[in-house]
Amino acid sequence: MDNKPTELPLTLLLFGGTGDLAKRKLYPSLFNLFKKGYLQKHFAVIGTARHPLDDDKFQEIVRQSIAKNGTEGQVKEFAAHFRYRSHDVTDLKDYGKLKVLLEQLDQEYTAQENRIFYMSVAPRFFGQIAQAIKSEGLMSENGYNRLMVEKPFGTSYDTAEELQNELEAGFSDNQIFRIDHYLGKEMVQNIPAVRFGNPFIDATWNKDYIKNIQVTLSEQLGVEERAGYYNTAGALLDMIQNHTFQIVGWLAMEKPNSFNDKDIRAAKNAAFSKLKMYDETGVVANFVRGQYGRGREVWQKSYTEEPDVPADSKNDTYVAGRLQFETDRWEGVPFYIRTGKRLAAKQTRVDIVYKKSVFDFGEANNDKLTEPVLSILIDPVGGIEFSLNGKDVTTEFQTRSNLLNWSISDQDKVETPDPYERMLHDAMNGDGSNFADWTGVAISWKFVDQIARVWAEDKVPLETYESATMGPVAADRLLAETGDRWIFRG
Ligand code: NAD
Repeated sequence: MDNKPTELPLTLLLFGGTGDLAKRKLYPSLFNLFKKGYLQKHFAVIGTARHPLDDDKFQEIVRQSIAKNGTEGQVKEFAAHFRYRSHDVTDLKDYGKLKVLLEQLDQEYTAQENRIFYMSVAPRFFGQIAQAIKSEGLMSENGYNRLMVEKPFGTSYDTAEELQNELEAGFSDNQIFRIDHYLGKEMVQNIPAVRFGNPFIDATWNKDYIKNIQVTLSEQLGVEERAGYYNTAGALLDMIQNHTFQIVGWLAMEKPNSFNDKDIRAAKNAAFSKLKMYDETGVVANFVRGQYGRGREVWQKSYTEEPDVPADSKNDTYVAGRLQFETDRWEGVPFYIRTGKRLAAKQTRVDIVYKKSVFDFGEANNDKLTEPVLSILIDPVGGIEFSLNGKDVTTEFQTRSNLLNWSISDQDKVETPDPYERMLHDAMNGDGSNFADWTGVAISWKFVDQIARVWAEDKVPLETYESATMGPVAADRLLAETGDRWIFRG
């Protein structure tokens, strides 16, 4: 069988072509797709931004961003497919020249009139750009049209809905690819592989066997230079509404009818629609908010001592909470989620905590039995761990917990595509499996809005936690209430 990648002809119109994301992620990712053969001869990229630049200077920017990743010949050949137009996205008349260039490049590169419009600009421009693409006739008539939307997607349910309506004025929902780069991560994509690829795991993925599920996205860094943005968003909006919910979607969903994007999205949406929405009492009972205090090291300042953070800020740098899905599969199984800055370790992981055996091994041994735990380690080192009960090496029969672990090999690490490479590739293939779907995004916003409202009214205490710990004690108490404990302790 011929495993050579199929070339995917297209013209990509990139809004924000001189930006940080374009240089750090998008050009290197497109270059990898070029080296692998998904992009060959029949593609062109138009970069736009406000700066006046000619094609040569723009190609130089592109070459610089990929110079380390290929031979001089490859870099040159790839960059020759790039063009630049200075363009103000807020000025409707500017779009006409992009239309002319799109048509010209389509001919020059026989790109089959396939078009991806990538919005790598400030989110306040998203709606306006999508509408202008449609109204100014930039959409292809004979090929596909796809819109890639950067994050954040709104700042509340209302703003997200408004944005969705603006996008839908130009594009149908199956043409919209909302980026959440966590969905492009290798080990997040390993969740369905592990779950559905092993019948014994698939068959036990329910309330009969699972005690609770824990999703942790912990960061060691503090707010760094992002205070301006972060102090208005907090951990809830920065990490829970988007990334955490998207990971939860893979865990909570029913088995999709097939592994195509339509069925995957339908199964995730069905799960999200059964998420128990909390009223004020529910928020108070199920969510903890925290803010980091000083640590033991001199440099570990408290959040309110960080540059550009107001001294009276009540912003959340930590969130822990309990989600409940009202489905037969998950009745009584809590999904615990947590994220925070300045914690003891940087780690993104999922811990599936199974129920303890009730087999009677004799009084002395029964106490030693532990809850088996399947852990999917996402970042910074990908891996899978399984802690299972087994026999201790003793003359008398005694049980103990044994850890089986696998981590991604150095070779696998080298070959792991950056999430942006995967997302661009998927969008070129029209595969929406690893993009956030509006139905799920809408539910996550409604859920999170309610928490934000209760917090804004100060109905939940803001817990402080010592820097370089795993968060406030209240988050441990949250689990202890139902006889659970956090598996990952830093
Ligand atoms: P940036 O500020 O570095 O780049 C923005 C680009 O938009 C620049 O090319 C700028 O010239 C252009 N621009 C600004 N105003 C314009 C206008 N009126 N008309 C035309 N072009 C205009 O931003 P960035 O960090 O590259 O981020 C781009 C998008 O990606 C944002 O939505 C951001 O939230 C998202 N994002 C970025 C990162 C990252 O790592 N940089 C990570 C996640 C999400």
